Amino acid sequence: MTGSALPLPRSLLAALTLLLFSAAWWAEPLQTLLDRPHLFPLQLHTVMESFAVLVAILIFTISWSTYSAERPGNVIIIACGFLCVGLLDFAHTLSYKGMPDFVTPASPQKAIVFWLFARYANALTLLAVALRPWQPFASPRTRYLLLAASLGLVAALYAIELDLGAMLPRMYVEGAGLTPLKIVLEYALIAALLAAAWLFHRKAERNPDVNAHLILCAILITVLSEICLASYQNVNDVYSLLGHAYKVIAYWFIYRAIFVTSVQQPYERLQAEIAERLRAEATADYLVHHDPLTGLPNRHLLEIRLEQTLAQAISNSRQCAVAFVNLDSFQAINDSLGLASGDEVLKVVALRMGQTIRDTDTLARYGSDDFVLVLADLTDDAEVMPILQKVLDIVQEPCLVGGQEITMTVSIGLALGPADGAKPEQLLMNADAAMHRAKQNGGNTYSFFEEAMNATATEYLTLRNGIKKGLARDEFVLFYQPQIDLASGRVIGAEALVRWQHPEHGLIPPARFIPVAEESGLILPLSGWILETACRQTVGWLRSGLPPIRIAVNLSALQFTRDNLFERIRATLAQSGLPPHLLELELTESLLMQDHVTISDTIARLKSLGVRIAIDDFGTGYSSLSYLKRFAVDVLKIDQSFTRGIVDNQDDLAIVNAIIQMAHSLGLATLAEGVETEAARKLLEENGCNDGQGYLFARPMPAVEFIEFLHRQQTAVA
Ligand code: C2E
Ligand code: MG
Ligand code: MG
Repeated sequence: MTGSALPLPRSLLAALTLLLFSAAWWAEPLQTLLDRPHLFPLQLHTVMESFAVLVAILIFTISWSTYSAERPGNVIIIACGFLCVGLLDFAHTLSYKGMPDFVTPASPQKAIVFWLFARYANALTLLAVALRPWQPFASPRTRYLLLAASLGLVAALYAIELDLGAMLPRMYVEGAGLTPLKIVLEYALIAALLAAAWLFHRKAERNPDVNAHLILCAILITVLSEICLASYQNVNDVYSLLGHAYKVIAYWFIYRAIFVTSVQQPYERLQAEIAERLRAEATADYLVHHDPLTGLPNRHLLEIRLEQTLAQAISNSRQCAVAFVNLDSFQAINDSLGLASGDEVLKVVALRMGQTIRDTDTLARYGSDDFVLVLADLTDDAEVMPILQKVLDIVQEPCLVGGQEITMTVSIGLALGPADGAKPEQLLMNADAAMHRAKQNGGNTYSFFEEAMNATATEYLTLRNGIKKGLARDEFVLFYQPQIDLASGRVIGAEALVRWQHPEHGLIPPARFIPVAEESGLILPLSGWILETACRQTVGWLRSGLPPIRIAVNLSALQFTRDNLFERIRATLAQSGLPPHLLELELTESLLMQDHVTISDTIARLKSLGVRIAIDDFGTGYSSLSYLKRFAVDVLKIDQSFTRGIVDNQDDLAIVNAIIQMAHSLGLATLAEGVETEAARKLLEENGCNDGQGYLFARPMPAVEFIEFLHRQQTAVA
């Protein structure tokens, strides 16, 4: 128990006690001034004593009923002591001059005897409490024994006064006032009380327990009461009044001490436990249902809210909408500006989108850069368009992240409930499918769900899971397509092209699964496998005595941004033993156009290893050619759409020629893809194209067939 939990600080207690002492000092002049010997009439006495009896009984009931085995037994001593005091004070009240007969007639003598009994019971209780160490009783029965002893004592004292009162020494003589015996008994009481006060003072010193201080004050005020009671001449004078008043105040102090420690403090502690628990529960609840980064409802809470919104929409014959929002190129932000900036972007987007919704709507963070907006209570699906447009607009406003001004965009997919799904998970899935459609449309737009998307979404999921399994079961194979020097007809290299040897569906071409692998991130493990296999295979051919050929491997954009590409290639070259100049990496134009520091840096480091860089499908991408110089590319692979047309289409021929001229003037080699006819080959050779690749020479083939092809070629050329 600490002092701070109690309502009365020690300094206030000291001041109060001092005030009461000074009041006693002023009693005599007051009496002279008022000149009223009957200041303390019977009625006032009865009221004060009744109050004192009530307080004493309260002390008993509270201490007794709140007692538990681990509380100090001293509390029960106080309880039983004050039960005695209350019952004796009751007899004292009934014996006061002017009261009706209580067994024997009322008289000051009788009232004083009960008074003294009560006072001694009080003083001895306080002394016992002060002397006894503040510890629990050894046996739980002790308190009942103590209660029985107390009641027995009270009965005995009642009997002594009521039966043998006449034999007791005189305490008061009408007209003369108190007898010396009564005064001596009062001073003996004062001595006992002072001893108890001293003991309590030491207790309070040793252990800063305001309970002891309150009781100490009570004792000092009781001493004051006894001084007054030893000083009166007339039971109705001011000293008698003050003596009774002090007694009541002293009881009140003890009552406070008991009430505070037995009821108020435990109650306050309970209230504080409860409040703490409610707080903890609220925090836990918040964490379970919210995303810690943005403070938005998380997936879990979203599902609960969506279920409610959807049920409401169905029962009110209304609509609700689920908008699946995904940040465009979020990975690029993470990669170029760092994860902290990525987090910052998510917070900004969450905040901005939050401004566009109504109170009845829900905005939740669904996954890394996925947000879901649930729009409730719609009459018409046209209502959502302005909201979606607002989201697109507000997200697009430039913002400062990591000291850099950037512009973000989002793709939104929309599904309407219950039309596009009567269950939350179905609505979410369909909105997600619509979002992918918005992405395919270039992003920064919204797309409504259509039934046809469902099939696409299912296929996507099936493919994604299939790729994962296929990787684990080693179902992927590499085919090799020769690359030919147009002038000499020699095989100068091969392009490694992946296929999926599916156990049920047979050989699946890359166009079917590469986009899904890229979108799901599975392209990273797949590309790792492709690179290692291609390098190992080429070294195998070299070691078997075949003339050195270059191996071309296709890279995916994701490898530049998410993988440690340079390290991976360096390590693969080292492990396989492939000379770096025999490795050619095929990049797409769109990758180079991204103009990322990471990309140009990685290309520069790869080039420093001696690896060659080719641009795949050249001519289909962007018109800006400045990057060709910046990235110091080695080869342009002219896209097959131009090669195919050169024989019949003058425009295609003009484009192919322009590419060849420009490449040569920049010091780059050219390779024509999709060479299917001898006419095309001839035309390309005449126009100065270095190399070719296409069905005319060979289709992509498994490694074993490729070796045979190489052997045949060797013999043919020889
Ligand atoms: P690409 O890199 O431009 O590969 C050339 C594609 O053209 C190959 O299709 C090849 O089989 C095909 N081709 C070759 N000669 C002819 C021809 O004379 N006529 C016609 N019509 N087509 C010809 P494939 O193997 O189906 O690959 C398609 C695309 O898939 C590749 O285009 C490439 O972008 C991607 N891809 C293939 N393998 C990989 C890989 O290992 N990693 C990555 N990231 N992408 C790959
Ligand atoms: Mg290629
Ligand atoms: Mg190509």
